[in-house]
Amino acid sequence: MKHLKQNTARRRQALLAALLLAIVLPSVACAALTVRQNRLQRRLADAHAEIDRLSLALQDAQAEPPDNVSEERPPEHEPPASVSGQAAPAYQSLHPDVYSDTPVGDQTVYENVCYLTFDDGPSEQTPAILDILDRYGVKATFFVVGSSVQKYPDIVKDAAARGHVIGVHTDSHVYKDIYASVESYLDDFSAAWQRVYDLTGQKPAVFRFPGGSINQYNKGIYQPLIAEMLRRGFAYYDWNASAEDAVGKPTAESVVQNALSVQSKMPIVLMHDGTYTTATAEGLPKIIEGFQSRGYTFGVLTPDVYSVAFGYRD
Ligand SMILES: [Zn+2]
Repeated sequence: MKHLKQNTARRRQALLAALLLAIVLPSVACAALTVRQNRLQRRLADAHAEIDRLSLALQDAQAEPPDNVSEERPPEHEPPASVSGQAAPAYQSLHPDVYSDTPVGDQTVYENVCYLTFDDGPSEQTPAILDILDRYGVKATFFVVGSSVQKYPDIVKDAAARGHVIGVHTDSHVYKDIYASVESYLDDFSAAWQRVYDLTGQKPAVFRFPGGSINQYNKGIYQPLIAEMLRRGFAYYDWNASAEDAVGKPTAESVVQNALSVQSKMPIVLMHDGTYTTATAEGLPKIIEGFQSRGYTFGVLTPDVYSVAFGYRD
């Protein structure tokens, strides 16, 4: 009898142990898998961010304006002949709120003023750039990407509050889509413009075409497109100096050297505050000091500033 009881007790213990194992083992395995899954998801997110970063840089590099561009004001500032005298194109009625409050009038070449411009932000690089600009008491122009504005709204608000100009670059930065037609450009521009307006309470008046005003993607539509943007009162700016900080492997030394190589009475310097590199922020103090030592002061782009723009020499 005693023996039987012992047997039953042992069997119960074994059953209990088996039950515990059946519960504990899968729980442990599940926890381990969750940790692993989280780690993989983080790596996947990192990889996606890297792909975004590289594709943005690649797009800018591919859309570099053709070699045969000049800095002359291009003839396309006049409405194209095919448009004048005919019914207004239907796209003029798209996005009826998207007009500048300060239309482009006479523009001035401000001699010995340098305009620092940052494309493709905001990003995690922007706060460091803002701090350096503050340290030197310099104001700059940021041509922002709408999707990044949505991601870093506080940085954009901060930049505007510190007295910098927020201009529009693009919403998606996908050249093939935005330059598919005048209509698709207006859709993309308007989305970014609205985001900045909603966030800062200021209607952006200046913008920069992704890839510049004339590039490999907008060759077929740039004339009516530019005419339409000017009709809406927006001033656009290309550049006559570039830090070359979004291509190859930029270093603090290379961005300084490239930015300062410009010979212009009114340099408009292309830089980037996207996620590609920290070289821009690292080189920025020397860029500012370099221009200062040559007697330049710094300004922000507003529609009264002469639109340095690429011309097309066929
Ligand atoms: Zn860009």
